[in-house]
Amino acid sequence: MLTVYSTVQCTHRPAYVVKNGVRSASFDVPERVDSILSAIRESGLGVVIQPAGTGLDPIYAVHDAGMIEYLATANARHRTEDDTSTPVFPTFFAPPGQRRRPSCFEGQKGFYCTNMGVPIDENTWEAAVASARCAVTGAMCLRSGEQFVYALCRPPGHHAGPDFFGGYCYLNNAAIAAGILRKNDDRVGILDIDYHHGNGTQAIFYADPNVWYGSLHIDPDTDYPFYAGYADETGTKAGKGTNCNVPLPPGTSQELYISTLETLLDGLTSFDPRWLVVSAGFDTYIHDPIGTFQVTTSGFSEIGRRVRALSKPTLVVQEGGYRVPDLGPNVVAFLSAWIGEKENNSDKTERAKEWTISHSTITEQ
Ligand SMILES: [Zn+2]
Repeated sequence: MLTVYSTVQCTHRPAYVVKNGVRSASFDVPERVDSILSAIRESGLGVVIQPAGTGLDPIYAVHDAGMIEYLATANARHRTEDDTSTPVFPTFFAPPGQRRRPSCFEGQKGFYCTNMGVPIDENTWEAAVASARCAVTGAMCLRSGEQFVYALCRPPGHHAGPDFFGGYCYLNNAAIAAGILRKNDDRVGILDIDYHHGNGTQAIFYADPNVWYGSLHIDPDTDYPFYAGYADETGTKAGKGTNCNVPLPPGTSQELYISTLETLLDGLTSFDPRWLVVSAGFDTYIHDPIGTFQVTTSGFSEIGRRVRALSKPTLVVQEGGYRVPDLGPNVVAFLSAWIGEKENNSDKTERAKEWTISHSTITEQ
C-alpha cells in the first residue's frame, strides 16, 4: 500500500478557532497525523512517499481563482495591511445573494470564508497545498495502475467548495483528486464517510453527470454544516441523480450506520464508476470528541471490507477524526481491508522506488 504524505502539512497548527464567541482549541492538530503515521508503520501496511511537486493547475481546475489568490496571500496581507500577528479571521460575511467581491482585504476576508473554524496563519497555505498534492499524487498513482492508495491529507478538504472554505478545510483534496481522475469523461464515485456532510464536494460536482457523490452523515438539521446535506439534494441539470445524501440521527448505532452504508453502496454500484475516491473521516468513532455516532474500531474494519468489495481502483483521502490516540488504529483498521493477499514488503518497496525514479520530486521517507 502506498501512503502519500508531506511533513509540510504539519506546519499548520491553528493557534485557535472561535466558537460561541470565545477562543477555543482547534481539534485539527498535527498530532492526528503522528497517530496515523505511527499506526501505519507499526502495522507494516506499506511505504510512505512524498507528494509530487505538481503545480497549482489541479487546484485551479476545482476552485475559484480569486479564492486561491486570497488563500495564498491572506497571511502576508494581514501582516502588512492589518499590522498584526494574529491569525486571519473575518469580521464581516457576505450575505446570500450578495456576491460582489470587493478589492479591499477587509471585505475579502468574509467573501470566501464561511465560519470561524478556518484561521489562516503563516503556514496555512503551504500546508493546504501540500495536503492537496497528496491527493493529486494519489490520483496519479491510480492512473498509473495502482489499485489502492491512501492520501494522508491534513488539513482536510470536504467542506471547501468552488468558492468557499470552512470547517477546518481550505482546499478540497478529494475533489481535486476526482478532477484528475475524471479526465476523458471517466466516471468517478466519491463516497464520503465522514461524520459531517461534505458540503464543499457536493457543491463542486452538483451538476456533473460524471461524478457521483454519496454521503451518510449527521443530520445537518442538528449539526454542521447545517445548510446542505439533506436527502432531497440529488444534483441538478445534467448531474440530476448523481448526488445522494443520507442524513442520520444523533447517536446512530454501528448497526444502523453499516446497514445504511450498504444502501449507499448499492447506488454507487449502479453508477459503476471507473474510479473510487473515499472521503474517509473517522469522527463517526464512538469516542470522537465532536461526533455522536457509535462506530467502533472493528466497525471501521467492516466498513473497509464493504467498500473494498466494490473492487474499484480506490483512493482513500483522509478527512476528519479527532480522537487522537485512537485515530491511527481506526485508520489502519479501515485500510487493512485492502491489504493482504498478494502483496509483500519487497513488492511495495520496489513500487515506491519506481515512483521515486519516474517522479523526481517523490522520495521515500
Ligand atoms: Zn467531520
